[in-house]
Amino acid sequence: MIDGRFASNLPAELLIDRASIARRIDELGAELAGLFADEEPPVLVGVLKGSAMFLADLIRAMDIDVAVDFMSISSYSQSGVVRIVKDLDEDVRGRDVVVVEDIVDTGLTLNYLRKTLSQREPDSLRAVTLLDKTARRIIPVPLEFSAFEIPDVFVVGYGLDFQGLYRNVADILAVRDLARLANDPRLMVAQLFGLKSG
Ligand code: 5GP
Repeated sequence: MIDGRFASNLPAELLIDRASIARRIDELGAELAGLFADEEPPVLVGVLKGSAMFLADLIRAMDIDVAVDFMSISSYSQSGVVRIVKDLDEDVRGRDVVVVEDIVDTGLTLNYLRKTLSQREPDSLRAVTLLDKTARRIIPVPLEFSAFEIPDVFVVGYGLDFQGLYRNVADILAVRDLARLANDPRLMVAQLFGLKSG
């Protein structure tokens, strides 16, 4: 059992286990597929890198034809300037576009993406996020679908990283002691990957 790993002195605890993630994504996939069943294939736009796992599982839960594209944007710095690091490969004019996010926190990133993509005149534009930290929103951005609403905690796993680590943890963990992890970013590596589950 994975829970056994969290009995130890880890600065994080289990927030959402892999089975719950899988169940919820199956529901969302069916909902999205129903929306586009009689339409041209929608374009699902993964926002790199955090949404990679979510996107991969979500599209396999959709029993319709879909197109996939990726964007990467630089994170917000103190200056508040955002820049596209990797743009879409395809033109989305006239297409049904679904932005696939890992987490919506302040809303600044999604707000920027929605503005940028709507200027390209898609037929429709929606957003789906794995995690929604509603309590932290500073900009009220439309968000059509969300898998889980979570409290104001820093999370890692299932695509979400801390300093490039922990993206491939299959569950979502809430970091209780961020200062301790910042002091030693690899702190949880041995315990999370050194033990066999089951
Ligand atoms: P926003 O622009 O909505 O404030 O934040 C979006 C980005 O901040 C996310 O795509 C993600 O990269 C990062 N982020 C926000 N909260 C968390 C968190 O709890 N854990 C991790 N790993 N990243 C987060």
